Amino acid sequence: MGLFGRIIVGLMPLTPKFVINRVARRYVAGSDLESAIALMQKMTVEGACFTIDVLGEEIQNISEARYFVDEYSRLIDEITVSKIDANLSLKPTAFGLLINEEIALENIEEIVHKASINNIFVRLDMENHRVTQPTIDIVYKMQSRGYYNIGTVLQSRLFRTTDDITQIVDHLAGLTDIRICKGIYLESSDIAETGYKEIVDATNSCIDLMLELGAYTAIASHDLPIINHALESLKKNGFKPGKPDPRTNAGESREGKGEGYEFQFLLGVRGNIRRKLSAGGHRTRVYIPYGTRWYEYSNRRLRENPDVAWHIVKALLLPWTNRR
Ligand code: FAD
Repeated sequence: MGLFGRIIVGLMPLTPKFVINRVARRYVAGSDLESAIALMQKMTVEGACFTIDVLGEEIQNISEARYFVDEYSRLIDEITVSKIDANLSLKPTAFGLLINEEIALENIEEIVHKASINNIFVRLDMENHRVTQPTIDIVYKMQSRGYYNIGTVLQSRLFRTTDDITQIVDHLAGLTDIRICKGIYLESSDIAETGYKEIVDATNSCIDLMLELGAYTAIASHDLPIINHALESLKKNGFKPGKPDPRTNAGESREGKGEGYEFQFLLGVRGNIRRKLSAGGHRTRVYIPYGTRWYEYSNRRLRENPDVAWHIVKALLLPWTNRR
């Protein structure tokens, strides 16, 4: 699988851009905000809610962050006007985290502030291990400034993640809101699990821990052994779709959120499973990326994790395994 993925990635520079564009269309809402809004309006009938990502990450010059601040600000206006059930996903390095932490914080605060006025939740996507702690720290700082509409993502493959969950719950108690995923970045074996089974087991343990500790648990995986484990674990903990969160250690339920948990999917991936969960009464959220930088984004994601190339080829050749 790894070799196949690496071959595809190696061939990408030789592939005409329009071919890549056709493939990317399945996974990216479009190059502008209007396409993202139109797509979400269409998908709302599937019972989905959304988290929106303006494509782009790790800027080279701090002045580039302005583009992201302005675009997210416009996005908040559009979500508010169109009344779409959506929150934001943003990448701290696009706001300058690796160039100047103070300025990045100010940039992010501008968005979190405007989002809080409009009752919109902001999730800090998690990037590679260089920014794990700085990203968690931004959440702490924002909450200490009175913004409770913020949470982050943890990557279950990292050895540190169970400690991170416990520490975040110690800090934020009922305001803890974490998206748990395997992690797209292939981290080294000194700091992370690298085998498939170990990563699945680690993810399942994180889900169990988050449910036990009262955290809002956003399960972001398309992998059936994880989804099925989560469903079992929810049942064991007394959750029932459409019923209030049964945990006494959980925070109050929040507008736009599920009752203590939700499932999250990437746009274009395993829509049939998502729709089934939604029909069963579970809150399901679709991650909607849009923006002009779709080509650089797709290239970079594939280079980081060539297995994604295999998923994409499989989705094209064997469409019944992965419905949009
Ligand atoms: P896999 O075993 O990789 O996938 C299971 C099946 O799903 C595959 O067999 C395939 O059919 C399908 N599939 C999975 N991914 C794709 C794809 N890209 N294209 C086509 N088919 C696919 N990672 C981070 O490091 N930081 C984040 O902030 C982050 N946010 C995420 C937000 C959401 C909503 C989701 C769903 C994922 C996010 N991820 C993030 C990525 C995540 O960490 C995994 O890399 C990704 O979800 C693949 O893992 P999986 O659990 O779906 O299992």
